[in-house]
Amino acid sequence: MNKMKCVVKSEPKEGAILTTREIPQIGPNEILVKVLATSICGTDYHIYSWDAWSQKRIKPPLIMGHEFAGEVIKVGEKVSKVKIGDIVSAETHIVCGKCELCATGKAHICKDTLILGVDTQGTFAEYVAIPEDNAWVNDPSIPPEYLCIQEPLGNAVHTVLSGDIIGKTIAVVGCGPIGIMAVAVAKAVGAAKVIAIEVNEYRINLAKEVGADVVINPIKEDVIKRVLDETDGMGVDVVAEMSGNSTAIQQALKYIKLGGRMAMLGIPTEDVKLDVANGIVFKGVQIHGIVGRRMYETWHQVKGLLASGNLKLDKIVTHKLPLEDFEKGMELMKSGNCGKVVLFPNMK
Ligand SMILES: [Zn+2]
Ligand SMILES: [Zn+2]
Repeated sequence: MNKMKCVVKSEPKEGAILTTREIPQIGPNEILVKVLATSICGTDYHIYSWDAWSQKRIKPPLIMGHEFAGEVIKVGEKVSKVKIGDIVSAETHIVCGKCELCATGKAHICKDTLILGVDTQGTFAEYVAIPEDNAWVNDPSIPPEYLCIQEPLGNAVHTVLSGDIIGKTIAVVGCGPIGIMAVAVAKAVGAAKVIAIEVNEYRINLAKEVGADVVINPIKEDVIKRVLDETDGMGVDVVAEMSGNSTAIQQALKYIKLGGRMAMLGIPTEDVKLDVANGIVFKGVQIHGIVGRRMYETWHQVKGLLASGNLKLDKIVTHKLPLEDFEKGMELMKSGNCGKVVLFPNMK
């Protein structure tokens, strides 16, 4: 047995194939993990659909996927932190560990970052090799379908907790899977009012189920007026911008409170025109770009939130499929009618 099944982006065009590859070899500082569950990220869908970003970044053939939980079955000779039998997930940013940013607690913005399943062979497979430094040892009593979503959950946690949130009003703009998680996190940590803004009805309902106090569909109503009505005319303290949509960003600067904080995770595909004078400067608004997870502060926060049992993970994970059905998973991602979609390489 030295072959494994996996999902490979084999050619520079739309789609991917289910095939077999050699089980990866590990270096002295790496571990080999048997993948138990691996979830589909928006990034995976971009690679699958072969969008403009993927065409520039991805060099096929590539085993896709990066969000996972699995069992360590082999460790390199220099590995000391992780043991065989540990259930691990991974910080997916493989950083240099040497630059100024890495040396000053900002490794999440290391300029030499490689991303698992983007720049290296990924996790839509029975086995994956990762550096020991990137392994996060899990509580094995938590089901793998929840452990595998910690990486995107970390994005949501990093966004919501990048400033004060307890007792604050927050608008989560865009309720894709990470937006849904941001709603759940904001609620769990004690935001005063969580307003979810989303156009897809399935995801509007999901936002309600994980605890949104107010949901607004900007296609159906005046989002600026409604947010102001919900906040005594003051606007929200915090905007978690998860949509990357230019109109949504422009609107958010109109309903954010004076002195508010806008944490931006969504990635616009083109330049966005903003009223910097009235939307940011005169309002004293703080804008914070969010990339990845703080290493490893965010992971500890995620661990604590999982342990709290307050995140409604059963609502966040909406679909579980065998790896063989990855195309069905990609269709769900395309439709928007899903939360997290989790794939199982060996579904029983
Ligand atoms: Zn991801
Ligand atoms: Zn670095």
